Amino acid sequence: MYAIKRELKLNKVETSLLRGNAGFKRWVYNFGLDLVQASWEFVDIQASDAKRIDAIKKVFTQVTMQKPENVWMKKYPSTVYQSAFIDLKRAFARWREGLSGFPCKKSKKKGDSFTVYKTAGVYPAKGQPPIPFTNRVVISPGKQIKLPGLKEFRLKERIDFYCSSQTFTVSRTANKWFVSFVLDAEKVPPIIHPIERIGVDLGVKALATCSDGSKYDMPVATTRAKTKLGKLQWRNRNKTLGSKKLKISASKNACKYYNATARQHARIANIRQDTTQKMTTDLSRKAYAIRIEDLNVSGMIANQKLASAVSNNCFYEIRRQLIYKQAHYGTKVELVDKWYPSSKKCSRCSHIQPMKLSERVFQCQNPQCGHIQDRDENAAVNLEFAPDDKVRLA
Ligand SMILES: [Zn+2]
Repeated sequence: MYAIKRELKLNKVETSLLRGNAGFKRWVYNFGLDLVQASWEFVDIQASDAKRIDAIKKVFTQVTMQKPENVWMKKYPSTVYQSAFIDLKRAFARWREGLSGFPCKKSKKKGDSFTVYKTAGVYPAKGQPPIPFTNRVVISPGKQIKLPGLKEFRLKERIDFYCSSQTFTVSRTANKWFVSFVLDAEKVPPIIHPIERIGVDLGVKALATCSDGSKYDMPVATTRAKTKLGKLQWRNRNKTLGSKKLKISASKNACKYYNATARQHARIANIRQDTTQKMTTDLSRKAYAIRIEDLNVSGMIANQKLASAVSNNCFYEIRRQLIYKQAHYGTKVELVDKWYPSSKKCSRCSHIQPMKLSERVFQCQNPQCGHIQDRDENAAVNLEFAPDDKVRLA
């Protein structure tokens, strides 16, 4: 699977159309969430979440949508509310499995998104399978894209080839709108990797240090952008976006401030994405087997002193990217047991000694060795040569 994401070039009418769609999706999602919770109190306890949501969908289409005050809902494609219910089901399933917290309400402040798709293909006869590819939208090369159920939109960057997809997700971050969709095509993995195996130490100081001596850093621009964000937040610490309860609408300056903060947050996220994407691509091109530490990320974020550095260096994101790039680059990602003493061990004589977090240089205390190396480099080499029983495939 291979995904494409492009920024949309919109005029005011188009922006308000997309905002409307996103608002409709948000409305339906929150409506469903409220009703699921309410149903726990008076409907029998046996029904599963999915069944409840199916019943709520029926109420929505047959009662809520037919009310005269809800006529506005009919101008949006039906796939928007369909996918809102699918999302809600997924959110409840993830919560039940303990993968994420209880589904929370969608809010305009946190960005917008909605999904549209081309509905099932043409059915030739009763009981026969649909004719293949009729449920797909064909996208021709160029700067235009037709979204199913909506109109044609312009793109800021062109698509270079003919491709097709069924499902399209439109999202907004700060004031930019994007469309993303998945292609079935696979990238062909390259066969030759210059390095057989590499150990990568994801650090607090440097972003990553590799056992071949190369180093990747988070650019200074992130620190600068974060300082700017902090200043912005502090100067506007008393601004609120009005109050629904007291019926006070938001002031123009408050709106301006909230837009500016959203843009600044997006900028920081973009710099981080750019850096980690480039780094993981580089690593995947360079080495066949990539060994990283199997870190307990949520545990490290709970540690106040490490939290900022850890979230800045996005350990989990790097790991996620390396893993999904396996298919594109034909690599193998290996996780080294988190109890393996990679930073406490001497990479030359295997002597183990305590190392404080503040010590940046590894100085071997074994009198016969006396090896001196940068702390992170030493750890990276240890990861590369970790014994096989401490290593598992990601
Ligand atoms: Zn040593």
